[in-house]
Amino acid sequence: MTKQWVYRFSEGSKEQKMLLGGKGANLSEMTNLGLPIPPGFTISTESCIHFFDEGKTLWPALNKQIETALTELEETVGKSFHDPANPLLVSVRSGSAFSMPGMMDTILNLGLNDKSVEGLAEQTQNPTFAYDSYRRFIQMFGDVVKNVSRIHFESILDTIKHVNGYEFDNQLTLEDLTDLIRQYKEVYLRETGENFPQEPMDQLRQSIQAVFASWNNERAILYRDIHHIAHDLGTAVNVQSMVFGNRGDDSGTGVAFTRNPATGEKKLFGEFLMNAQGEDVVAGIRTPLSIDSLQLVMPAVYTEFKTIAEKLEEHYRDMQDIEFTIEKGKLYLLQTRNGKRTATAAISVAVDLVNEGILSKEEAVLRIETGQLDQLLHPTFDEKALPNAILLATGLGASPGAASGHIYFSTQDAEEANKQGIPVILVRRETSPEDLAGMVSSEGILTARGGMTSHAAVVARGLGKCCVAGCTAAVINEDTRTVIIGDIILHQGDTLSIDGATGRVYAGNVPKQNPTLSGDFNTFMGWVNDIKQIGVKANADSPADLRQALALGAEGIGLCRTEHMFFHKDRIPAMRKMILARSVEERKKYLSQLLGMQRQDFYEMFALLQEKPMTVRLLDPPLHEFLPVAKEDKIALADAMDTTLSQLEEHIDSLHEVNPMLGHRGCRLAVTYPEIYRMQARAIIEGALQAAKETDSAITPEIMIPLVCDVDELRYVKSEIEEEIDEVFIEQNITIPYHIGTMIEIPRAAVTSDEIATEADFFSFGTNDMTQMGFGFSRDDSGKFLQEYEDKGLLKPNPFHSLDVKGIGKLVKLSATLGREANPDLVLGICGEHGGDPRSIAFFYSIGLDYVSCSPFRVPIARLAAAQETI
Ligand code: ADP
Ligand code: MG
Ligand code: MG
Repeated sequence: MTKQWVYRFSEGSKEQKMLLGGKGANLSEMTNLGLPIPPGFTISTESCIHFFDEGKTLWPALNKQIETALTELEETVGKSFHDPANPLLVSVRSGSAFSMPGMMDTILNLGLNDKSVEGLAEQTQNPTFAYDSYRRFIQMFGDVVKNVSRIHFESILDTIKHVNGYEFDNQLTLEDLTDLIRQYKEVYLRETGENFPQEPMDQLRQSIQAVFASWNNERAILYRDIHHIAHDLGTAVNVQSMVFGNRGDDSGTGVAFTRNPATGEKKLFGEFLMNAQGEDVVAGIRTPLSIDSLQLVMPAVYTEFKTIAEKLEEHYRDMQDIEFTIEKGKLYLLQTRNGKRTATAAISVAVDLVNEGILSKEEAVLRIETGQLDQLLHPTFDEKALPNAILLATGLGASPGAASGHIYFSTQDAEEANKQGIPVILVRRETSPEDLAGMVSSEGILTARGGMTSHAAVVARGLGKCCVAGCTAAVINEDTRTVIIGDIILHQGDTLSIDGATGRVYAGNVPKQNPTLSGDFNTFMGWVNDIKQIGVKANADSPADLRQALALGAEGIGLCRTEHMFFHKDRIPAMRKMILARSVEERKKYLSQLLGMQRQDFYEMFALLQEKPMTVRLLDPPLHEFLPVAKEDKIALADAMDTTLSQLEEHIDSLHEVNPMLGHRGCRLAVTYPEIYRMQARAIIEGALQAAKETDSAITPEIMIPLVCDVDELRYVKSEIEEEIDEVFIEQNITIPYHIGTMIEIPRAAVTSDEIATEADFFSFGTNDMTQMGFGFSRDDSGKFLQEYEDKGLLKPNPFHSLDVKGIGKLVKLSATLGREANPDLVLGICGEHGGDPRSIAFFYSIGLDYVSCSPFRVPIARLAAAQETI
């Protein structure tokens, strides 16, 4: 049997996205649901791959199947490619398995030529429509198939409009259109060296080849790279009989979402234009009308559309993004797909669908991508700063978020500035697919034209970038790189702030505040918690961090780094004096000053946490990190310590290490100066006792000893700490339970975990240091060469971002197993950067760790990843 390359819409289903592409699969599905879909067929994605194998040509078996399908189509719609008096016109539409908005190009009105345009004019009694369709076809064919720059066509159109004083394309008269077509054909001949093809089958073959070839155009490749879509999937080509939204005022075209893609509100959301075709709505040719007003213009069509939209949503069990056309009062659907949405909308839709009984909680949890949650945690403008901000204009809030930056007017300039680390606001009259790279390089996008479904809006929402679209008050001149808003003129590099939720545009840099999370977010995260099995804690070093972490659902603190508490300008002097003390007595004096400060920190944090656990890590970094570098700081310190500058400098020099990360740090400090850890242990226990008493809660502090490499070392440091804690208990005549555990980060500790576990209540894997020491890659220096590895496809992904399961993961697993065997009550967790990385979390879950701990802003992401891993 010969291979099937071509599928009629009646043959496919929504499950066949890989073969038919998303658009084709859904056109099939809708056809089989009995919805009004113009008939057609799909050339499979396999054909696209085969097309490249064939040296970018169509091969005989495919040509034959296309011809057969086309003959059938002619019969079905009762029109023909070969009958100029009754011409079959089709669209040629690309569609890959994953939606790639605007990446591939569509050709409409194919089949028209000098003869059939007359036939169509005659047949429809509507010559302006027929010639309007023909001029569109010539432009699209020239652009997509022959790469004739659009500018050539557009400047001709602009001139005609200008000469006649027209504002809109639909004011063109028949004479204008025939003149336009004549000039378009001249351009076509001049630019391609060929006459515009007149034979419909020839037009079709060339178009199919062009769509296939577009799979590998730069924009498409970039989009796939950004979204991690494989390059060998190919695109399908849909050939579909045309319906016409440009036949007059009883016709039109539009796009609508079944729910609001920015907020998730359950209400049709979209736009349409009467007497328009194809991309007119999204290209911002005229300002479209809101879908609500279709109810006034064509009540019956509106009701039918609304019913179909509901049916589609129920059928697909998700919010739909629907493209439709109305021809002489009759509704046709041209596309449906799961709508792209902001994270806020995604959560709200998921929660609603569960409440409506359409989805289970587990399905809802799987629907949200961990990356999307990131969007929700973006800042907004500070409410307190807004009244003083200078509001320049208001456009459409097309993709929420708050962004400030320096304005740039082209993709190239935006990319350049971004490379230099400058935050960019991309300002464009409207965006097109060429601007994708510029949008990626920007904090936010501002456009003067286009609506909520314009290219800028759709792509920005997909990227999670803030976007204000259709800001008509902004007069943008991309050539002179200026934008005039009211009586203010801004030049490239000036700063602007935009609010993608309200559409407001402000002068300068408006301060931002952290996000507040909605009720739906809390409901959703509640389900996440019910489902997930691994604990999620936060790394937090201060009461402020901790509040943030708790608000984001942390179940405790997995890592409180005490050194950060000493860097504060009020505290660093005492810390420096302690480090540079010349005797144990002197050191103890300064330690007692630090004790008060530490106790207060711990007290506040324990009081906020109450029964929730907190693991406090004792001092870890090399001491020289705390010492002054600037001359005036050194002089001040020498004064305060009653010594000379040169003596002080000598002392500082003596602490210098060649390899500080492998030097005098972690518990090694406590072997040399046990009084440091003793002070910290006292501060922790005293803080906990006070908080327990005041909040009347059962607090069990967890004290963590870092950088342990051997059980005897741990035993020694631990005994010092225990002695100090006993003293506190005796002084206050009270005790509380506490745990002492260790970080596992040195490979030797991992492989001797059976011994170490006998002295530890818990292990916390410090996977940053473990990666550093396991690979022998300096965390501070490896950036220089790891990029090279990444470019060469070695060591992917970067082991500092996503845990190296093969090597470092093996160490973690070995340590966990040895540890648990020796001490069945041992609690296991991880506190490196990897604790917030979804892929790493999957691994930690698989080896049975009790919890992960990550930075506060990663907490929701970690919770979601943990839940998705469980389902
Ligand atoms: P994209 O993937 O860029 O959205 P489409 O293939 O969906 O491209 O085509 C863009 C628009 O062209 C559609 O939304 C629709 O308005 C119009 N279009 C495509 N095919 C037809 C058709 N057969 N009849 C009428 N309009 C069509
Ligand atoms: Mg489109
Ligand atoms: Mg489309």
